[in-house]
Amino acid sequence: MNEYIIRASNVTKIYKKNKVLDDLSINIKKGDIYGFVGKNGAGKTTMIRVISGLVIPNNGQVELFGHSEEKEIIKQRSRIGVLIESPALYLNMTAKENLELVRIQRGIPGIKCIDESLDLVGLKDTGKKKTKNFSLGMKQRLGIAMALLNDPELLLLDEPINGLDPIGIKEIRELLLKLNKERGTTVFLSSHILSELTQICNRYGFINDGKLIEEITASEFSDKCRTYLHLKINDSSDVPIILENELGIKDYEVFPDNILRVYDEFNGEKITLCLAKHNIGVKEIMQMGESLEDYFTKLVGGEGNE
Ligand code: ADP
Repeated sequence: MNEYIIRASNVTKIYKKNKVLDDLSINIKKGDIYGFVGKNGAGKTTMIRVISGLVIPNNGQVELFGHSEEKEIIKQRSRIGVLIESPALYLNMTAKENLELVRIQRGIPGIKCIDESLDLVGLKDTGKKKTKNFSLGMKQRLGIAMALLNDPELLLLDEPINGLDPIGIKEIRELLLKLNKERGTTVFLSSHILSELTQICNRYGFINDGKLIEEITASEFSDKCRTYLHLKINDSSDVPIILENELGIKDYEVFPDNILRVYDEFNGEKITLCLAKHNIGVKEIMQMGESLEDYFTKLVGGEGNE
C-alpha cells in the first residue's frame, strides 16, 4: 500500500572537501506532506537539488516513482514541480504573464494550466497588477503556481515559508493542505523553523550537517513532545475515580510513588482543589514536557536555528 514516491539511499555530495550530504537516506510515501527540517547550511537545498536532478551526487541513489534507471528518472521528473528558494519573477509583468513565460520555457502544452494554477493558489483575481506590487506571500504563491503548471504529483518546495508573515504562512499552509487533500499531491518541503511545519506535515526528517538524524511521523513526534501537568500527591488510590467522575479528565497516568501526569489539561488549581476536597494533598505541581522547538534544538544542536 505504502507506495514510495522518493527513495533516496546513501546520498553523499562533496563540494571541494566539504561533505554537504553525508550518506543521507530518505523515503517519501505517496500522499505524504514531508517536512525536511534542519538549520541553515544543513544541506536541505542540496538534497532537493539532488532529487530534482540539478545536482549530481558523488555517491548514492535516488529512486523516483519506483524507477531508478537514469533514462526513466529523467522521464519521471516531468511528474514533479519544484520551487527552490524564491521564485524568479519578472517584476514588471503580471502573474499570468510570468506563468506564460514559464509555461513556454518548460514546453508545457495548452494555456488552460495557467488559469488553473492561478486559481489553485488564490491569485486568479490579480488581473493587471504587476508582481512588483505583490506581497511576499503572493510572490511565493506565484512561485508555487509555477511549480504547479505541469499538474505535478510531487511538489518539492525549498523553504516556501521563509520570510513570510503569519498570514502568508497560513496561506501557504492552507494551499498545501488543499493540494494534498483534493489532488493527492505529495509534498516535500524544507524549513529551518520547525514550528512553521507542525500544522501540516504528517512526517518529518531532521537533517544536521548533511546527515539524517531522525525520520518520524507527526503523531510519534507529538507524543514525544507532549506537555503535561506533573503532580506528586500523598495518596493516589482514588485518583482515577476522582479525575474521571468529577473532573471528566480521561487522559492521565498514575506512576509509582504517587506521581500523577495529567495530559492536555492545565487547570492545576481546579485539580488541586478537587483533590483537597478528598483529603489528598498535593506536594508538587508543575507543567512539564518539551516544546517541539526544544526537541528540535536538542536533536540538531543549539545554534543557528534562526
Ligand atoms: P540548507 O538548504 O540546509 O541551508 P544548503 O544545501 O544550501 O543548506 O548548503 C549546505 C552546505 O553546502 C553549505 O555549507 C553551503 O555553503 C554548501 N554548498 C551548497 N551549494 C554549494 C556549491 N554549489 N558549492 C559549494 N558549496 C556549496
